[in-house]
Amino acid sequence: MPKSCPTCSRTSNDAKFFGSFCEYCSRDKLSAKLNAVVEVTWCKRCMRIRGREGFVAPAGRNFEEIMGSRFKGYSVHLVKLNRDSALLDIAEMTPDGPLSVEKEIGIRYNKTLCDTCYKKSSSYYEAVVQLRGNPAKMERMIASLERYFERRNQFVSKIEKEDNGFNVYLSDKRMASEFMASKRLKPNMSYTLAGIKGGKKIYKNTYALHL
Ligand SMILES: [Zn+2]
Ligand SMILES: [Zn+2]
Repeated sequence: MPKSCPTCSRTSNDAKFFGSFCEYCSRDKLSAKLNAVVEVTWCKRCMRIRGREGFVAPAGRNFEEIMGSRFKGYSVHLVKLNRDSALLDIAEMTPDGPLSVEKEIGIRYNKTLCDTCYKKSSSYYEAVVQLRGNPAKMERMIASLERYFERRNQFVSKIEKEDNGFNVYLSDKRMASEFMASKRLKPNMSYTLAGIKGGKKIYKNTYALHL
């Protein structure tokens, strides 16, 4: 005795069935159940989008992961990314096998400033490198610091020219120490109390380097 779909009257001779509904009606039902619009948080300065572990490049793979987190319990593949929407292949596992549907999902972008851009905009710094000595070496060191920090999503917040060198302000002191270690530099270190946050003393590091 073939099944007959209660919505469209197709029978199981003409179509595959998922439960008591034919595949066409099952797909329609799945599609209707899925949110038509999802929200993505986006940094208006660096254009990166918020993923599960912080802000990431707005690349297709990252969008696919974010869409996956918006449709929990489904397997989600990005077919095409448009300006304000994404064509997704969304599949649900059912007792009769995977049921999948292609659906155009609208993307609503929420503007924000990511942590890095927020700090940049306020010239935030945790460390100062005082460079003194040979001008050409100091310039190479500044370029090298800029490269090192920017590649790791941190930044040089300010460079001051002094009579005998430069003060380079850096956004992250742990990264400043890693930089020194990676270049086998042995700066003279000093610490300045910058304030107290949550009962803990916050120090700014100063690295004096003679090149
Ligand atoms: Zn049907
Ligand atoms: Zn940003």
